[in-house]
Amino acid sequence: MIDIFADVEPMVFKSGINVPYSWWAGETAERFFLALRDDKKIMGTGCSICEKVFVPPRKVCPLCFQENMAWVEVSSEGVLESFTIVERQLASLPRKAPVIFGLIRLDGADTSILHYIEDADHTDIKIGMRVAAKFSDERSGSMHDIDCFRPVR
Ligand SMILES: [Zn+2]
Repeated sequence: MIDIFADVEPMVFKSGINVPYSWWAGETAERFFLALRDDKKIMGTGCSICEKVFVPPRKVCPLCFQENMAWVEVSSEGVLESFTIVERQLASLPRKAPVIFGLIRLDGADTSILHYIEDADHTDIKIGMRVAAKFSDERSGSMHDIDCFRPVR
């Protein structure tokens, strides 16, 4: 077999692809985002069979596969289940490093959400600590309507 690329020097060009798009979030996500935007409320859906509460809300229970889900407001406070600290300023980071990403299980929910954790002293962040949502002053109906979670002290 002849290798037609044997004498080819591999070259790498950096570039970017801009693909603007939009789509309807769907009935369930729409209600979740409107509650964040208009009422600063975090909503989930609860399953009538397994009694699990999902945040973000699910239209169908991923455990029971049934659609009889009830809307439930959960707390804007919860427990930090895990976190990671990004110390390096990467181009893809929308915030100034160090950036802390945390998994937060809100009171009343059985699932966790991923969000920013902000604190004056990022070396003091601990798994199991209580955190509370800080809502953005200007909200548009997205996860960024929660600016970050901060430790409750
Ligand atoms: Zn269920």
